[in-house]
Amino acid sequence: MTTATAKKSYDLFINGEFVKPASGEYHDVVDPSTNEPIASVGAAGIHDADLAVAAARAALSGKWATLTPARRARIINKVAALIGERIGELAELETRNSGKTISSAKSEIGQVVEDFEFYAGAVTKIMGNTIPAPPNFFNYSLKEPVGVCAQIIPWNYPLLMAAWKVAPALAAGCAVILKPASPTPLTALMLGQICTEAGCPPGVVNVLPGPGAVIGAHLAGHPGVDKIAFTGETTTGRTIMELAASTIKRVTLELGGKSPNVVFADADLEAAAAGACHAIFYNAGQSCDARSRILVEASAADEFVKLFVGKARALKVGDPMDAQTHVGAIISKKQMEKIEGYIGIGQQEGAVVACGGSRLDGALARGNFLAPTVLDNVNNSMRVAQEEIFGPVAVITTFQDEKQALAMANDTIYGLAASVWTKDGSRAQRVAAGLRAGGVGINTPFSIFPGVPFGGYKQSGFGRELAMQTLDLYTETKGVVMYTGVKAINPFGV
Ligand code: NDP
Repeated sequence: MTTATAKKSYDLFINGEFVKPASGEYHDVVDPSTNEPIASVGAAGIHDADLAVAAARAALSGKWATLTPARRARIINKVAALIGERIGELAELETRNSGKTISSAKSEIGQVVEDFEFYAGAVTKIMGNTIPAPPNFFNYSLKEPVGVCAQIIPWNYPLLMAAWKVAPALAAGCAVILKPASPTPLTALMLGQICTEAGCPPGVVNVLPGPGAVIGAHLAGHPGVDKIAFTGETTTGRTIMELAASTIKRVTLELGGKSPNVVFADADLEAAAAGACHAIFYNAGQSCDARSRILVEASAADEFVKLFVGKARALKVGDPMDAQTHVGAIISKKQMEKIEGYIGIGQQEGAVVACGGSRLDGALARGNFLAPTVLDNVNNSMRVAQEEIFGPVAVITTFQDEKQALAMANDTIYGLAASVWTKDGSRAQRVAAGLRAGGVGINTPFSIFPGVPFGGYKQSGFGRELAMQTLDLYTETKGVVMYTGVKAINPFGV
């Protein structure tokens, strides 16, 4: 056991230091690949949340507000550099805590570095406008930090989601209270410390592990919080939106998905099968943008399914610390049971299990491992085609033509992401334009890069992350109107 993985106690991170929770309560977090505890983590309560809000408010009006943009950019670049230096330690901790494979953790943390670098570069480009005005007026707009931001994140990409939230907030000059998901708080706590080491004044980044239903909800309604940014389940997002309404908080929500992967018969089917395999089985299918519905043109269905199932069977599932593993552990027993429940529902609805469908046994049985599962013979109205399963389960449906493909792809309450596979460039453009989704990949399983907006249509949420537009969601725009004339203005003439 290494230093990073020895069972260790973690406190809350408030006002630039680790502090014990007021209640003195600590909860174990486990390694999903063994279900053994790996750390004991302080559980923040209402009192701790109030302390964090006070620290963040004080930081906003303190030194943080007086730093030049260039200095703020240097601090954010330093955050990136420190994460880069500790990538091995952070990746190992992420893998132990989340069950994701070590190769995924390393590549995600590589992207965390790039996200901070992207927003470091953006700091000095946040600017208002001069606005055409009538004679004798000079009008302009100013961009100002929105204020204290509560940021609530899920367990599937613990450090990456933290970076997507914290980096643009720091770039805009905000102060944050980051609420990691209860199962995966460890790398988020390290991020708080790294931000402070990099030069963020105390209170600018606070990290509060603790029960979402208590402190997440408290922060969502807190009058000292100006904005709430949330990633997680659609129903939780709805609750947060309601709580935020009490103080008219700014809200951004990145919610669930049931994203389609549309494969036309003219596609390179080998590439489409490989891409589709990555797009659903990466991170054991626990991705909001997982392409969990595969829509394939009927004339190519047999060939595609054969290729796809062959690749799903070839995936190595198991020890997340093994660099050769493709699919790691499911976050919890509860989540695994939920996924198994859906596989059963699919079969009752008439789907055929083309591969997988069961837990792994032997030495892996103590962890939460499910074989990559393909449900064939699915129609788009089945529950397995409409509800977010959030596990390594792909469902396959066939379509006859482009019109039907688009109609099926859009026939969902969600609209987070989509992919299209075709060699016909015009069709690719038409389908990308017709998809009601916040992000579309054409002939690629990869569609997430710093700078490319990420976010949802419909009930997948609103607001965009990872892009320059994100900065608009962390700033207020102030319009300033100045009279420059000689004669005093006296409209009433009194
Ligand atoms: P949640 O949406 O409940 O959790 C996401 C975050 O919200 C966590 O930090 C959680 O804290 C917090 N939270 C929970 N309840 C509240 C609340 N009332 N007010 C404020 N914050 C709250 O997802 P779960 O982790 O419970 O997973 C449930 C299901 O959601 C999964 O089975 C999966 O299918 C899906 N999911 C979807 C995600 C996506 O990105 N689309 C991400 C994660 C899960 P805490 O962990 O302490 O409860």
